[in-house]
Amino acid sequence: MTQTSNPSDSTAPAHWLVVGGGMMGLSVAQQLAKRHQKVTICEAAPQFGGLTSAWNLNDVVWDRFYHVTLLSDTRLRELLTEIGLEKEIRWVETKTGFYAGGKLYSMSNTMEFLRFPPLNLIEKLRLGGTIWLASKIKNWQRLEKIPVADWLQKWSGKGTFQKIWLPLLRAKLGETYKQASAAFIWAHISRMYKARRSGMKVEMFGYVPGGYARILDELGKSLQDQGVEMQADSPVQDVHRQPDGKISVTFKDGRQESYDNVLFTIPSPLIAKVCPQLDPHQKKQHENIQYMGVVCTSLLLKKPISPYYVTNITDDVPMTAVIEMSTIVDPEKELGGHSLVYLPKYLPQDSPGLQEPDDVIEERFLSTLEGMYDHFSRDQVAAVRTSRAKYVMALPTLNYSKNLPPVVTSVPGLYALNAAHIVKGNLNVNETIELGDEKLNEEVWPDFLARSTK
Ligand SMILES: Cc1cc2nc3c(=O)[nH]c(=O)nc-3n(C[C@H](O)[C@H](O)[C@H](O)COP(=O)(O)OP(=O)(O)OC[C@H]3O[C@@H](n4cnc5c(N)ncnc54)[C@H](O)[C@@H]3O)c2cc1C
Repeated sequence: MTQTSNPSDSTAPAHWLVVGGGMMGLSVAQQLAKRHQKVTICEAAPQFGGLTSAWNLNDVVWDRFYHVTLLSDTRLRELLTEIGLEKEIRWVETKTGFYAGGKLYSMSNTMEFLRFPPLNLIEKLRLGGTIWLASKIKNWQRLEKIPVADWLQKWSGKGTFQKIWLPLLRAKLGETYKQASAAFIWAHISRMYKARRSGMKVEMFGYVPGGYARILDELGKSLQDQGVEMQADSPVQDVHRQPDGKISVTFKDGRQESYDNVLFTIPSPLIAKVCPQLDPHQKKQHENIQYMGVVCTSLLLKKPISPYYVTNITDDVPMTAVIEMSTIVDPEKELGGHSLVYLPKYLPQDSPGLQEPDDVIEERFLSTLEGMYDHFSRDQVAAVRTSRAKYVMALPTLNYSKNLPPVVTSVPGLYALNAAHIVKGNLNVNETIELGDEKLNEEVWPDFLARSTK
């Protein structure tokens, strides 16, 4: 059980506003409700879920962005157990593809890796050695001091770096890879290593039937049963601490409410915007966090495109990867008999690419797919939709963890707890809610108790 403090150590229940109704906000609201607090959670969008929210592709309802759960996602699985969905997870063995030099290769096991033509034997050994080494490293703080490109070149050598790592870094981070530390690649490798079952070394990914729409629905019901008030369509515009210690919150529609505590889970630049009372140093720390955004096109197809869940791409193409969700999610039961393919492109938060019209992005992606797969043509597309998000992942720059703003802010009763605080993992739901537990237990709750007993 992740909640370490005893509810009996609470004082009289305070009224908390949790700002941001993504998985972090929802899970923190649940933890506060378990501590017998009065909790309101507000979300700017018309529906809860943030990056995990769902939408329609014709009649199919599935996540706007692709999501899978790993066997090692123990905290997420615990939450799913609480809302009665864990036992329904379907676990599926996955395959990985690699598109390099205009050809598609399977890269799902050691034999396929050893046969992979773009790399010679020495390059393969160095690539395998780098991945093994990263999976063994415990002292990630040391890696924060080293640029990711330097670290990868050192261990993998120039050939492997140029042919594999550099195109993958560019695909995921664009030119901002130059600012990223080696902790970035370490976090990715650690998660993927954990995903492989020991012994068989195969990847097992899982999903809940109904996708995140179902998870969010059940989680919402459970929160309401615990007395949490859920307000969608409620963007917070301004937060001010009053002389009496209460926190006054103004919403975009002009409504004003007063709370004892406000806990933000929204991206850092937005926290800086709505909290003018934060001390200038903390405000700057929030503003200085650089985010990667994403544009992500969903395609519902009449036929599958490949057997691979992820196809990594080292050629210069406009998307980061091809994600074929229907290699995991049952097409007949969940997708109206269709295949579901996601085409993501990660871009810096201020990139003009995030503003491009949907039809421009879709045309570019579809013509690229036609070039990559001989059997694919756009008459196989039953539905196409493009989603975008400006603030997805904080860029792990050099010495990232040293420059993070504190969770307990300079304004008493205001807490800033968002996914930018993930320092030893990559962005995923398990990591996000684990972080929420940890920071609530170790920083928010002790500070709240100390203030309440004064
Ligand atoms: C393309 C993609 C693929 C992914 N794949 C996976 C995967 O396979 N597995 C996995 O586990 N994770 C995956 N993730 C990551 C996962 O989606 C995130 O870790 C998680 O959703 C983050 O939740 P959050 O609550 O921290 O942030 P968010 O979901 O961003 O929530 C923040 C919320 O705050 C709201 N908000 C912002 N401003 C205000 C305001 N002023 N007032 C009120 N509300 C506000 C926003 O509308 C939003 O709903 C993926 C993400 C993306 C984008």
